[in-house]
Amino acid sequence: MNDFKAEPNELKTAMLNSAERVIESGWYVLGKEVENFEREWASKCGTNHAIGVANGMDAIEIILRSLSIGPGDEVITTPMTAFASVLAIFRAGATPVLADIDPESAHLSIESVKRCINAKTKAILLVHLYGQIRNIRQWQSLAKSSDIYLIEDCAQAHLAKLEGKTAGSFGVAGAYSFYPTKNLGAPGDAGMLVTDDGHLANMAACLRNYGQSVRYFHPEIGLNSRLDEMHAAILSARLKWLDNFTARRREIASRYYAEITAPYVRLMAKPQELEAHVYHLFVLLCPQRDALQKHLEHHGIQALIHYPVPIHLQESCLSIKRDPAGLEFSEEHARCCLSIPCHPQMSDVDVTHVITSINAFQAI
Ligand SMILES: *Cc1c(COP(=O)(O)O)cnc(C)c1O
Repeated sequence: MNDFKAEPNELKTAMLNSAERVIESGWYVLGKEVENFEREWASKCGTNHAIGVANGMDAIEIILRSLSIGPGDEVITTPMTAFASVLAIFRAGATPVLADIDPESAHLSIESVKRCINAKTKAILLVHLYGQIRNIRQWQSLAKSSDIYLIEDCAQAHLAKLEGKTAGSFGVAGAYSFYPTKNLGAPGDAGMLVTDDGHLANMAACLRNYGQSVRYFHPEIGLNSRLDEMHAAILSARLKWLDNFTARRREIASRYYAEITAPYVRLMAKPQELEAHVYHLFVLLCPQRDALQKHLEHHGIQALIHYPVPIHLQESCLSIKRDPAGLEFSEEHARCCLSIPCHPQMSDVDVTHVITSINAFQAI
């Protein structure tokens, strides 16, 4: 699903030079490299502010806490996401409420979200699942008319664009993860939140560093969620390659759309614009998913499931609040979805091998 060792030598050298620069500087946490990468990322996202944090989950928690969302408040999100999306809501002390998904895209269903909104609802955490932004105007207007915040979970959608705007710039704030396997990844954990809201940015900068305003003064009960200089420097080097890598992911995806013709396999809804999808994952649906996964493994192809257990079926979340109409489409998606390799280090021959192997799948 990934092959970091196959990355270009030029990129490896740039990463080593960045690491050397940080070690020579003698400054390791929240310094010039972090400030520089924050500036670069804010500019890429088209937002006024970017605040580097320790990981994507913390970015969501810190956004919620900066907006004073906590105990007694409800935040609506999807059961078809990384566990971290929901865990961040719990960590902020708020109550997650799960709405069902639209089966064509696996993104949140607007009808289901509407059923979940009540007087306690403070925000929708919209996950740009698999790397795609969809129907963003509808989400913006629903949030506006319901007087709640729209928060974007951009952990899979690095610099995806719809109608000329970038992921993270549509809602009050966006959370990014730079976990190694994300489209832009650090050699370890790292994250960032982006926003146009100056107050939110100040609160977030305070919260990530023990709730400290100036040295040794703590107006807030914060957390330790700082971004390291080493990660920031290396991310900045890797950022120069991101457009290139994203373009390659799109090339691979367009071949998949054109050439996967297996009768028992269904592809997810195509993006509304070419740039709206950055293909963090390329996901297909198959009623005999486990057999297809085995078949691919037999052909030397790794395929993974995102996600096999929707949040409300996790042992720790069995009593989680949810759409009273149920979460049937999420459960169905979890049974059928399969992510096939779609990363920038794949050769054309690799892509052809994936396609021919899928097309050779005989359902039993
Ligand atoms: C990866 C991911 C996160 C969490 O990011 P971490 O950096 O691992 O904490 C949150 N939401 C989604 C959708 C993710 O894919």
